[in-house]
Amino acid sequence: MEDYPKTLLEFERRFATDQACREYLEQLRWPEGFVCPACAGRKAWPMERGLWLCSRCRRQVSVKAGTIFQDSRLPLRLWFRAMWYVTSQKNGSSAKNIQRVLGLGSYQTAWAWLHKLRRAMVRPGRDPLHGVVEVDETYIGGPEKGKLGREQGEKALVAIAVELRGAKLGRIRLQRIPDASAPSLLGFLHQSVAEGSEVHTDGWRGYGPITTAGYLHRKHKQTTLASPVPSYQEMPHTHQVASLLKRWLLGTHQGAVRAEHLDYYLDEFTFRFNRRKAASPGKLFYRLVEQAVQIEPCPYRTLIRPNP
Ligand SMILES: [Zn+2]
Repeated sequence: MEDYPKTLLEFERRFATDQACREYLEQLRWPEGFVCPACAGRKAWPMERGLWLCSRCRRQVSVKAGTIFQDSRLPLRLWFRAMWYVTSQKNGSSAKNIQRVLGLGSYQTAWAWLHKLRRAMVRPGRDPLHGVVEVDETYIGGPEKGKLGREQGEKALVAIAVELRGAKLGRIRLQRIPDASAPSLLGFLHQSVAEGSEVHTDGWRGYGPITTAGYLHRKHKQTTLASPVPSYQEMPHTHQVASLLKRWLLGTHQGAVRAEHLDYYLDEFTFRFNRRKAASPGKLFYRLVEQAVQIEPCPYRTLIRPNP
């Protein structure tokens, strides 16, 4: 059963101590009871400071070990407040803002925490989009002067897929792609959209081989550089997502997102967008904590220089 606080007051009452936070993590990480991360033993004795002693391999185990909370010396209460704040703000938070709200000593810590939390915003093994899906690309940072159409300059190119549920938008997927070639676009589709789905695109030739890749292809009007039809009329849903994404990057993050970190901002945007109808911020908080105990630790060096 999904168990989470629904209001700020409930949150404050429930997570007033580090022990309460730890027990919540244990409940989410070990729903069927303790599992030793070293030997998979199922029996353990409680020790001081919230540690468990594995009865098989005698190791001392913390619920934080092997999760994004692993190397943090700051109290879990503060992490919980960060997670509540990030999920209860409609547009999330900049590092500066979270530093101020939590009273963190360093900007670097605030920045690293937000990046660790973004790693936890992708659910491992999530289902691909399916049904009718509109796909397009957009430049982040806007087209460069002197560059036209899909010729790429220094700006990042982001592929967008949106599930269409009648006239409404369903879930989305976003991914930075190196170029708008057929291999790049098909790579994105294979990761994001289930085969057999009906994929709507514009007339760009990079989408040519879609049918041979196992999708039904519905091509909208032919796009040329001199096309009289603006792209937002042709592909309204992906266009809408692209505008919201750009507004969020410029608003919450003031456009200060570097290309090598963009993927993780896309993950955060997707996390929020796909849960935009959640009845309570507690639900997002719950998802975030649940996923945070399922992913590997992210040392600082992997945050500042992520893999290309
Ligand atoms: Zn063990």
